[in-house]
Amino acid sequence: MADTGFIQQKANGLVFFTIPSFTSTRLVKHGFSSRLGGVSTGECSSLNLGFKRKDLPENVRQNFDKYCKVLEIETGQMVFATQAHKDKVAVIDEKDRGKGFLRATDIFETDGLITDRPGVALVTFHADCVPLFFLDPKSKAIGLAHAGWRGTLARIGAKTIAAMKDKFGTDPGACLAGIGPSIGQCCFEVDEPVANEFRAAFPGHADRLIEPKEGKFHIDLWLANQIQLIEAGVREENITTAGMCTACNKDIFFSHRRDQGRTGSLAAIIMLA
Ligand SMILES: [Zn+2]
Repeated sequence: MADTGFIQQKANGLVFFTIPSFTSTRLVKHGFSSRLGGVSTGECSSLNLGFKRKDLPENVRQNFDKYCKVLEIETGQMVFATQAHKDKVAVIDEKDRGKGFLRATDIFETDGLITDRPGVALVTFHADCVPLFFLDPKSKAIGLAHAGWRGTLARIGAKTIAAMKDKFGTDPGACLAGIGPSIGQCCFEVDEPVANEFRAAFPGHADRLIEPKEGKFHIDLWLANQIQLIEAGVREENITTAGMCTACNKDIFFSHRRDQGRTGSLAAIIMLA
């Protein structure tokens, strides 16, 4: 396993990952799940947290019961949106609790969630796409974003920070950020048109972001997100990167690309305590 800036936690048979700087504030409950410790079988073995996967809904519910229990979050506090690899950010509050888990969500095509309300758990779903965690310890606000390559190009991370600034007065310079387990440059191979989009979107960084390899291109999504957060005013020393590739670590993570779509879903969760 790669070195990680996130900390691996084990509880009740579950393995999940937390961000030390977030934990130190004592302001939030949070985690990024692994595939370990759940009840699902087959391609979703075992902690699948996606209702849209090839799995029984009761398995997913049981998995959430287990995951939320170790995070000390109630399942009814969670809020899901439908994700679209775009750049829309929604402000979430108490009335949204339970959406996506207890009842259908009405938060559509939204890849960034923010709130300043305690007891409201933001949730995003991942199987290679980058999870971005935000905590503003000053104004006590949080954010969570789902950034695949399209979302990274659309700058969903920078837009989530901008929304926190706009709605909660967040100072990006005081904000903590976490870039979670997701597909690494080792495994994220694209064709030239996508590489060119990254070249255009991150001028001056192409050498580090894009590695040509056997006629294809390997993109560093972690770095692309780090660059845009720094450009948005987040301090480099306040950004923790897990540095763990979901595709390389088959025993620990689901990976859409590695498993060609036949896989489960991981979940990022954060809640103000
Ligand atoms: Zn890899």
